[in-house]
Amino acid sequence: MATGILTIDLDALAENWRALDAISAATTETGAVVKASGYGLGASRVALTLAKAGARRFFVAVAEEGAEIRQALGRGPEIYVFGGHMPGDTDMIHDLDLIPLLNSVDQLTRHFEALPSGAFGIQLDTGMNRLGLEPSEWQAVGALALAQKPRLILSHLASADTPDDPLNAAQLKAFRDMTDGVQVPRSLAATGGTLLGADYHFDLTRPGIGIYGGLPFADARPVVRLALPVIQIRDVAEGETVGYGGSWTAQAPSRIATVSAGYADGLIRAISNKGQLYADGTPCPVVGRVSMDLITVDVTELPDAPKTLNILCPEQTIDALAGHAGTIGYEILTALGPRYSRLYTGGAV
Ligand SMILES: *Cc1c(COP(=O)(O)O)cnc(C)c1O
Repeated sequence: MATGILTIDLDALAENWRALDAISAATTETGAVVKASGYGLGASRVALTLAKAGARRFFVAVAEEGAEIRQALGRGPEIYVFGGHMPGDTDMIHDLDLIPLLNSVDQLTRHFEALPSGAFGIQLDTGMNRLGLEPSEWQAVGALALAQKPRLILSHLASADTPDDPLNAAQLKAFRDMTDGVQVPRSLAATGGTLLGADYHFDLTRPGIGIYGGLPFADARPVVRLALPVIQIRDVAEGETVGYGGSWTAQAPSRIATVSAGYADGLIRAISNKGQLYADGTPCPVVGRVSMDLITVDVTELPDAPKTLNILCPEQTIDALAGHAGTIGYEILTALGPRYSRLYTGGAV
């Protein structure tokens, strides 16, 4: 087999969800964000594992993503759609029993006309300026919307991964100003907000990245491992170059391993000449440019020819690899390509 093997530890996933759940009081429910195919790890397996761990409210970005989650979980668990009620979504929302988080006056109107008794939630903008009703809009339509009995009111923090950012407290105040006294469950915190403390927890937290083992949840257990098969190993003489553009030159006689994965598999080109792969804990630098299907790695220091090299492993988390690539763990995870063999361990589902 010449594809990488992506191992997904469902026990670690469940344990991360429980650890995040334990941060908030027993009166605060913990949901689970499973958008983008469960952050690239497979929506059904992820959702089933988290439902078994105790999650009852799931969140996706768009209604289309709700279909796979509903199919996996059956009726019962609530599935919220961050993108709200878009044109053409009505049948899906109705048939799959999805709960759109209405983001604008247009969406409120569309939803109440199309599905007058259909469940919904409301997203408020408290300073991120991305999705949700502005305070002035909420003032205008709030009473009308509340009369239709929303299931949830939420807002999203823009800087929760930076605890000292004054934007956090400003958004918390705005959220309170807009919702204090309202008899509807409230949610403000994703992973970062969950870690900011009890003031941010309200009735429901909705972590994503922390469940999948990423920062800002520093205590998370890693969930993914990625091992790449070595296709070929060659000796390169001092002064020879490797890869497209000859961007790496051997400073001494070197052994170069070529592994089977590239930017088409989500190992983005930004790690060219920067990242490293690991052979049983020994780092081996990426040399030359990452190409579509292949990465070249300097294995001169290894005593034996490796059969596989690990790019995600305990020595190199998604966030460490992201650091080499100038991005974030979220992007590394959600970019993981379809060519890998996905191997699930644990989870008992
Ligand atoms: C993606 C998302 C989340 C989850 O965020 P994490 O940082 O992954 O925990 C929560 N709420 C909203 C509105 C989101 O878009």
